[in-house]
Amino acid sequence: MDPGAALNEFQLVRRFFDRAPNRAVLGVGDDAALLRPDAGLELAVTTDMLVEGRHFAPGADARALGHKALAVNLSDLAAMGAAPRSVLLSLGLPSAEEAWLAPFAAGFFSLAERFGVDLVGGDTTRSSLRTINVVALGEVPAGLALYRSGARAGDDVWVSGELGGAALALRRPEITQVAKRLHEPEPRVELGERLRGLAHSAIDVSDGLAGDLMHILERSQVAATVEYERIPRPGVFSKVPELERECVLSGGDDYELLFTAAPAQRAALEKLAAELGLALTRVGAIHAGAPRLAVRDAAGKPVEHGGGYDHFREPR
Ligand code: ADP
Ligand code: MG
Repeated sequence: MDPGAALNEFQLVRRFFDRAPNRAVLGVGDDAALLRPDAGLELAVTTDMLVEGRHFAPGADARALGHKALAVNLSDLAAMGAAPRSVLLSLGLPSAEEAWLAPFAAGFFSLAERFGVDLVGGDTTRSSLRTINVVALGEVPAGLALYRSGARAGDDVWVSGELGGAALALRRPEITQVAKRLHEPEPRVELGERLRGLAHSAIDVSDGLAGDLMHILERSQVAATVEYERIPRPGVFSKVPELERECVLSGGDDYELLFTAAPAQRAALEKLAAELGLALTRVGAIHAGAPRLAVRDAAGKPVEHGGGYDHFREPR
């Protein structure tokens, strides 16, 4: 791009991020957007930030980043059982590079359009590190949101899709079969909505099964047992067995849904899996007791696990 023709802040927003909303009363361009919530719905609001050097490498693919910045937020809404409606996008960028902005916007809007999500505003500022923040708003019928605190003794523990692929891709970029799991995760939007009234509790797996299940256990004040062999994982782990356990139990970034439900819902959940074309696997059970996660192997022996990822504790 010719540096003499660099876009200013307002041209940048108009060119790449100003699209007519489907549902919002007013989108990008004024001092605030206007939304009209339907009666009887609760608004779920969440935000997630991606920072260069922390969450992605300086040379990371811009289109994939646009997808991922939105996907991680839609995943949080899905984990609440909320349908995504509107998002705000704030960008810190070293310069107005069209060669980065065009693919970033393409990745972002292709996912937004798939779920009918309006981009209704944001902020744009210069910053030495690329920083991407999304705020997402979703709707859920009053009283039907899925809380982390809803797990009950006797519940089954379920997980969607496969776990460990994203963490494997981070450690072994040359294993291309799992690259998409890390760079372009699929938020389980339909599943989240369909779990309303079926699941007792839910969380999305962003920091690893062990750590994220512990969040449910702590919020619900219950214990859990997970059978390691039942956890669904990509077949490619057979080539790198030494990485399997850590990635499957403690690897982050998969953005699958982990949820608990009464055993009476097993048939309904199996039917739902078939309808969505998405594996739903029962991996364990909730018990009465202080928050504690026991993972066991096929012989019933305890499997060690290091918990989940924590930005202020463990090196990644
Ligand atoms: P203000 O100074 O009143 O906060 P701005 O000049 O920052 O407004 O933004 C102008 C309009 O552009 C607002 O509607 C804002 O929401 C929108 N906007 C700014 N940056 C972005 C972005 N990255 N994506 C989408 N909308 C944006
Ligand atoms: Mg502003």
